[in-house]
Amino acid sequence: MSTTVAQERVYNFSPGPAVLPVSVLQQAQRDLMCLPGYGMSILEMSHRAPGFLDILAAAKHNLKELLRIPDNYKIIFLQGGSRLQFSMIPMNLLRGQSQPADYLITGSWSKMALDEAKREGLARVAWDGKSTNYDRLPTLADWQPNKDAPYTYLCSNETIQGVQFDTDFDLKSPVVADCSSDFLHRPLDVAKYGLIYACAQKNAGPAGVTAVIIREDLLARSQDNLPGYMNYTGHVKEDSLYNTPPTFAIYLMGLVLRWLKDDVGGLEKMHAFNQEKAKLLYDVIDGSGGYFKGHAQPANRSLMNVTFRLPSEDLEKKFCKEGEKRGLDGLKGHRSVGGVRASIYNAMPLEGVKQLAEFMKEFQQQNG
Ligand SMILES: *Cc1c(COP(=O)(O)O)cnc(C)c1O
Repeated sequence: MSTTVAQERVYNFSPGPAVLPVSVLQQAQRDLMCLPGYGMSILEMSHRAPGFLDILAAAKHNLKELLRIPDNYKIIFLQGGSRLQFSMIPMNLLRGQSQPADYLITGSWSKMALDEAKREGLARVAWDGKSTNYDRLPTLADWQPNKDAPYTYLCSNETIQGVQFDTDFDLKSPVVADCSSDFLHRPLDVAKYGLIYACAQKNAGPAGVTAVIIREDLLARSQDNLPGYMNYTGHVKEDSLYNTPPTFAIYLMGLVLRWLKDDVGGLEKMHAFNQEKAKLLYDVIDGSGGYFKGHAQPANRSLMNVTFRLPSEDLEKKFCKEGEKRGLDGLKGHRSVGGVRASIYNAMPLEGVKQLAEFMKEFQQQNG
């Protein structure tokens, strides 16, 4: 990337597709005409060529290392976004089961997943945060887990409401987690999960690829009469080459994984950095004497999506507009919650968050 173009970059607080590490974009730019050693662009390369098979293997290897994924789990890269997983999960794990799956409804995305599961089979609402407008999350004491449930579904980070689980639940039934908007933001105890999935475009790459990590024994539930693409077992058997995979998206996700490993130094470091960044914004909210009102209860605040309101909708509009003028882009909250949402994913630099925190304080002084 030429310096002038790099200097034009704003701080991008968009919820997704979202900010990517500059070094990743720079490498993609260098590689785009010709992937070193392979004589052609990744965009032109067969998905069965050695060049792509190397990229695929490295991405799986690095993902496995970063998350310390045990050997009895399979990694596949799919298309259709996280939305397709809302359907694929019950199609594969719920068909033929007699008990309902448990769903924790903690915000917009888990609710949508529940609606899709109901088309496929029995799903029980084990907990619902609706009565407080999805501003908090349950602890194990707040719902009655069904140990015989085919699985317990949760969304680890509700991107729209800005509430996030910070623990890995130890349940008898396999935990299925939508980690779309906080994938790789901290280490996970993968062994406590049956299935983990994430579309890449929030925290791990560009749009077009979804990573699915599934415990081997659960694959036995997928029935032969499922449509081919919808069956996890085919994707596992063909090592993500059941159909032509999104080669460029997997390549770029691979660069992000390498950045996490080599430049950041792993997920413990990433987590500490994310905590430091989020604290800057929550401190401004808490120190504003109620001018900024956080949506999430403090115990359940997201490190990824910081959601808050201002005293009026007019001030919120003004805040986003003035922010944009200062190069702080994408701050408008989701239409269902309103207000402001600052998405500060892994790749958001500390400097961007510092500038936003400064801007918030200045804005309050001038509009208080
Ligand atoms: C964005 C998002 C989705 C939907 O992802 P798509 O790739 O657009 O289908 C699902 N769950 C969560 C938590 C998200 O943030």
